[in-house]
Amino acid sequence: PDTTLRPERQPEDNDRALRPQVLDDFIGQAEARANLKVFIQSARQRGEAMDHTLFHGPPGLGKTTLAQIMARELGVSFRMTSGPVLAKAGDLAAILTNLEARDVLFIDEIHRLNPAVEEVLYPALEDYELDLVIGEGPAARTVRIELQPFTLVGATTRLGLLTTPLRDRFGIPTRLQFYTVEELNEIVTRNARLMGAPADPEGAREIAKRSRGTPRIAGRLLRRVVDFALVEGDGRVTQAIADHALTRLGVDHLGLDGADRRYLRLIAENYGGGPVGIETMSAALSESRDALEEVIEPFLLQQGLIQRTPRGRMLAAKAWRHLGLDAPKEPGQ
Ligand code: ADP
Repeated sequence: PDTTLRPERQPEDNDRALRPQVLDDFIGQAEARANLKVFIQSARQRGEAMDHTLFHGPPGLGKTTLAQIMARELGVSFRMTSGPVLAKAGDLAAILTNLEARDVLFIDEIHRLNPAVEEVLYPALEDYELDLVIGEGPAARTVRIELQPFTLVGATTRLGLLTTPLRDRFGIPTRLQFYTVEELNEIVTRNARLMGAPADPEGAREIAKRSRGTPRIAGRLLRRVVDFALVEGDGRVTQAIADHALTRLGVDHLGLDGADRRYLRLIAENYGGGPVGIETMSAALSESRDALEEVIEPFLLQQGLIQRTPRGRMLAAKAWRHLGLDAPKEPGQ
């Protein structure tokens, strides 16, 4: 399937020049930013490693970017890995023993850590110690290795899948929110300027309105609109060019793409508006349950297009209107 419009990380996301480098250039997430500012400064004043920090929220909202900014503002090195990459306890041990004092270690998708690796992480987080088992059977013994104090920054799209002991070891849990149109507007305007393709205020706004509250999507849509502006226009990102390009890409005026609309139409047309169980949706759409819950549903919920009930997903009135369909009459009305 075409994944251009999905918010997940992709190999071609090469935007080092566009990524905000310091907290003051980071747009949005005002509350998280204000708190981080205090915790960073406090750690600097004490000369200690900052507390372990957990960022959670849908993909593309800036978890990795904030982790990099933290390292820069703390004046330490940034090391990055991810839950699924750390297959064995030894993989984590190799990284931890290479950290220098107060470094930031970023673990993306931390809900996907192998339990054996997670066990090794606990004493490392609490006491900066590693307990490694060497050898097997009766000859096995444990060696303790002292680590430099460090800051773990974990990121997850699925807070609910984190084990309680792991979750409890983060002193600074931070939830990232979808961005407002105003905030995305600022991001798009800034990025367009940095790309050398200035955006009209209405052009930037059109992209911001249709980016699903997500900076990563705003970045991708802007790049595609700039393509159209260069080839079919005079290089300026106008509202007309933006609207034309986004419509060609199948992004509607709420920012929903084909996958979102398929999801909504399935509930409307096959299940009379729901409730429908998530497993049924997953089978009918040939999408994994994880993809539905992590990627598609958060924005539809935030927009009030669907509701989650104990019996399954239901369409809200706004979704019926958006699809241009009549909602069935409630029984007894
Ligand atoms: P996540 O780790 O949550 O999936 P990233 O930190 O990788 O998200 O950010 C996704 C993209 O959006 C990156 O290209 C990043 O530069 C951009 N981005 C994220 N947050 C902001 C922001 N507040 N301002 C500008 N660009 C942002």
